[in-house]
Amino acid sequence: MSVIDLRSDTVTQPTPAMLDAMTRADTGDDVYGEDPTVNRLETELAKRLGFAAALFVPTGTMSNLLGLMAHCERGDEYIVGQQAHTYKYEGGGAAVLGSIQPQPLEVQADGSLDLDQVAAAIKPDDFHFARTRLLALENTMQGKVLPLDYLARARQFTRDNGLQLHLDGARLYNAAVKLGVDAREITQYFDSVSVCLSKGLGAPVGSVLCGSSALIAKARRLRKMVGGGMRQAGLLAAAGLYALDHNVERLADDHANAQLLAEGLCEAGFSVEPVQTNMVYVQMGDRAEAIKAFAAERGIKLSAAARLRMVTHMDVNRAQIEQVVATFVEFSRK
Ligand SMILES: *Cc1c(COP(=O)(O)O)cnc(C)c1O
Repeated sequence: MSVIDLRSDTVTQPTPAMLDAMTRADTGDDVYGEDPTVNRLETELAKRLGFAAALFVPTGTMSNLLGLMAHCERGDEYIVGQQAHTYKYEGGGAAVLGSIQPQPLEVQADGSLDLDQVAAAIKPDDFHFARTRLLALENTMQGKVLPLDYLARARQFTRDNGLQLHLDGARLYNAAVKLGVDAREITQYFDSVSVCLSKGLGAPVGSVLCGSSALIAKARRLRKMVGGGMRQAGLLAAAGLYALDHNVERLADDHANAQLLAEGLCEAGFSVEPVQTNMVYVQMGDRAEAIKAFAAERGIKLSAAARLRMVTHMDVNRAQIEQVVATFVEFSRK
């Protein structure tokens, strides 16, 4: 029985074609700047997203951390969503390792941060306060796509208030594919962007931080400091390049599968949140553990949560989604 794993889009296995690209990669010592494949990935993604420079790192957590630390000094502050990955799911790294104070704000229903609330949270220039330096957004935010006109307003707002603007774009390409725009239409508004290659794009490892040459030079120093300086990393960068060339447009299939899943569950009487990209949220209440166990017996891996998240990806096809719907229907009739 092949397992259907809906816990995250990080669970994908590299395809034979991706593995082939990896084994054929030219490599060198990237700490010396001599890995041609890493250099090609950095140059290529910086160009595609409209930045002067980029840096390949092992994880999205490190990419965000280096971005925050490159923008902010010890005693600075960044404004961020209460539910944002950089604030909630990265071990408090910005505070622990960067001495950067987070100012979390509640995320709005559409995944954005209310700019009036952000304005009210900016500290005056007064020695009582941390120095507010940066606004960090996330796109997609729990599967929601931030509207382009909101990004334009956030850009103008941060300029007017002397703040830098960082994007945790772990799923940037899901947002771009959903909007039907070039990713640059999104990234043009930001001073720095972190992109994960290891989520829906299907690479086994890797994220890339994009920004100005000065920002990336600073991030490169910090990367070495936190132990992210890899050597013949071209093996991994080759997977990222392959993913950018082959796995972007197909994200639309994941979105269609998420839609199909949501509709099926809705028809079966489950309370499902509206779906935009590859994430489906279902209210399971106190049945979270029960559905997890029930599905596991039928080869379906789920998380256990009252607000259950299911994520579609390249290793789950349409027929498998229909199987998942059938399993939920069977569960609801128990
Ligand atoms: C997964 C994720 C990250 C971090 O990526 P890792 O590679 O798991 O460290 C950052 N932000 C968001 C929104 C993510 O989903």
